[in-house]
This record gives sequence, structure tokens and C-alpha cells, in this order.
Amino acid sequence: MSKPVRTRFAPSPTGFLHIGGARTALFSWAYARRHGGQFILRIEDTDVARSTPEAVQAILDGMQWLELNWDEGPFYQMQRMERYKQVIAQMLEAGTAYRCFTTPQELEALREAQRARDEKPRYDGRWRPEAGKTLPAIPAGVQAVVRFRNPVDGVVAWDDLVKGRIEIANAEMDDLVIARADGTPTYNFCVVVDDWDMGITQVIRGDDHVNNTPRQINILQALGAGVPQYAHLSMILGDDGTKLSKRHGAVSVMQYDEDGYLKEAVINYLARLGWSHGDEEVFSREQFVEWFDLDHITPSAAQFNTEKLKWLNAHYIKQTAPEVLAADVQRRLVARGIDIANGPELAAVVTLYRERVSTLVELADSVAPYYVEPVIGEELAAQHLNEVARGALIALTTRLQQANWDKAALSAAIKETCTELGLKMPQVAIPLRVKLLGVAQTPSIDAVLEVMGRERVLARLGV
Ligand code: GLU
Repeated sequence: MSKPVRTRFAPSPTGFLHIGGARTALFSWAYARRHGGQFILRIEDTDVARSTPEAVQAILDGMQWLELNWDEGPFYQMQRMERYKQVIAQMLEAGTAYRCFTTPQELEALREAQRARDEKPRYDGRWRPEAGKTLPAIPAGVQAVVRFRNPVDGVVAWDDLVKGRIEIANAEMDDLVIARADGTPTYNFCVVVDDWDMGITQVIRGDDHVNNTPRQINILQALGAGVPQYAHLSMILGDDGTKLSKRHGAVSVMQYDEDGYLKEAVINYLARLGWSHGDEEVFSREQFVEWFDLDHITPSAAQFNTEKLKWLNAHYIKQTAPEVLAADVQRRLVARGIDIANGPELAAVVTLYRERVSTLVELADSVAPYYVEPVIGEELAAQHLNEVARGALIALTTRLQQANWDKAALSAAIKETCTELGLKMPQVAIPLRVKLLGVAQTPSIDAVLEVMGRERVLARLGV
């Protein structure tokens, strides 16, 4: 039997959870769920200068909003320092790591000389113990760093689950510093110890880490630890094919919540960023988990497409129960200082609009004038509330005052007004829309009148 699947998402808390991070989290989460495994959240906060508690919170908020629930963690690397130090001590003991007393000045001189000879700057192994080699005398007052004793021969190879086979010659790599002079462990080392201790079976991460992988594999092997499988996800480009910027995607996922996107749409959208299942475009989270595998992730870059995200969002808004949408919209209206208590039932108004909008913000914009009298723009008034229109609205008002308040009767009242005054339908309906809601286009006008209610309609018509 194969090992139970354990994946992890390991963000550095130096900013919010953006689209790229969320996609990595989603794929790691889905892989664990697909295989009945465990999904672990690990906060890589060792870069103390750049990590903030606010960023940790923003990442947790983003994960929670998207319902990417973790089974273990969050583990914080800063709380695991003793463990890293313990492993470093073990490696020194085992001879897989060694102390290096080269001073920063010496290193700089070494690099200078290498550059002058047109060579790639690299540590020359002067403190690396070898059989029969005499090491330099330990200088006074120099704090040693600890270096990993990287193999010199052969290659490091792995079958990347996205990129295919990758091989790097050990000769390309020098002896990595795993502990700084002050004893603190370095980034690549902490990742290795964590992936080992946490029993990670598949490392799914951005391909900006692909260069770290051979070093991490070598260290894992030196520790006698199992090597996980790796899947390096390609980067996400912006709408215009350039690097993802603030305009498209490099913003917090919470911004999408703010901007009126449903999490279902965002999840569906993220799932298709670099992964596919035939031609399927619209699918639920459950369906995604059932289908998800690493074989159908494309090694080429994915491109962000705001229009597609909007299209998906419109789809999910249509599918969502009016009561659920109403709860969201109410929150947005309250934030704008709009009280819905005295207006028509929000779910009924939402029903009129949910097929016509692509975001919940648009939905809130559309329903707001049912609760606060709109300010009718000058241009709109000049265009639609002329002499003829005013006459039409007066005639219509008289009929509405007597009408039964149902769609059929309201529609009849409008038609009769048209016949009476020799006007076409839009000549009555458009001024009516402008007067009632401050816009020239709305859903079917009889439905609007019905939902708005007699009292409010007549009040806005000035009766
Ligand atoms: N902490 C790294 C980052 O946020 C991820 C490291 C990893 O997944 O191995 O980019």
C-alpha cells in the first residue's frame, strides 16, 4: 500500500494571500482531499524583517474564506527553532555538515577572484573536511557558519509531477550554509526539516522554488529521510500576458470577496488556472476534488482572465438561492448606510436582478434604489423626463392608483396608458424607470412595480 497522502501549503507571511498563493493552496488541499489524505498549513515566518502578524492573519482569512480547511497546523517555523538546531547538531555529528570559519571579507575576496577569472562565484570548500586534508587553523573571534556537505559527484534527479524529469549535476552546487554565524537556520534547511518531520508526501508549490529542490533533496537524503514527490506549478500571467500585477490578480483574495465575487466562482476559476479536465469549465468544489490529479497540470504559464472570472461569477450568482444572495447584499447595503427595513422584501428584489449581474456589488447597486430614493441625473432627466413623458406619467399614475397590485393588472395599466395617449411602450416605461429607480433600464417593468409595492411607487410618482 502506498503511503497516506500528506500535502502542505507553506506561505511566507510577508503579504496577503493572492491569486497565485491561493491556487497553490487549492491544489495542495484538493490533492489531499482527493486521496483521503491530510492537508497541513505551515507558516514560514523565519524572515523576521518581512513577516508580520497582519500578514499571517490575512493568509488565514483568505484560506478560511475559500474554505481551504487544513487538518494540521498552522505550524510556525519560528516556534520550531530548537528542532532545527537539534538536526544541525546531528548533522555535524554525522559529518554531513561542517563548520566553516571563512570570514565575510574572505568570501568577498574569493568571489572577486572567481569573477576576475570569469568563473561562477561559489564557495571553494576550504573548510570542508576530507580524508587526508589538513584544515586551516581556527581563527580567533570568528563565529562559524554551518555548511551542508553536498555530494560532489553524480546528479540529483526527480520526476517532477508537472515539469517531468529534472536532473542537476552535483558539481553545479556548492556547500549550502544551513546555519548562520548566529546559529539561526537558513530557509532551505527549515523547509527540509519540516517536510521531513511533517511526513509530506507531495510538495506542490510555485516553480519559483524549483532551484531549491535539488539542494533540499540532497539534504533529505543526507538525513536518511524519504524524498517526497514534487510538483512545481507554473507562474500565472496577467490578462495582458505580463507578470501578474495589482490590476489583475496580485491583490488579496479577500479583495474578490469585497468586489462581489462568490467563493464558488473563485474556486472554480482558480482550479482552471493551469489544470483542466477535458473541456469542463464549470464545476463545483466537490466535482473538482473528484477529478483533480497532477497529470493534467500544464507546465506552461497560466493566464489570468478577468472576463472569464466574471462570467463564472455571473453563473454562480444565478445558481445561488435569492435568500443567500440577499444576506450578502444586505451586508453590503448596511455598509453603505442603507436600511432595508422599510423597503420591499430583499430576496424578491434580488430575484429580479440575479440573472442580470456579474458581481454582488453590481447586485447591491441594482437593488439599492428600492430602499433609498435615487438621485436622478440631470442628463437622464433631460433625455427621458420631457413634456410628453410627464404627461404619460400623470395618466399612468391615475390608472395605477386604481389598479390591482399584480403583474397582469400593472401591465394592463401601462398598455392602456399607451393606447390612451398614442404612445409606444418605451415612451411610458422608460420615464417610469427613470422616475422610480433613476435608471433607464430595469427588468420587466410590471415585475418592478409589483415588487416595489403600491405605496413606494405612488410616492415616487409624486402622489
Ligand atoms: N514559503 C515559500 C513561499 O511562500 C514556499 C516554500 C515551499 O512551498 O516550499 O514562497
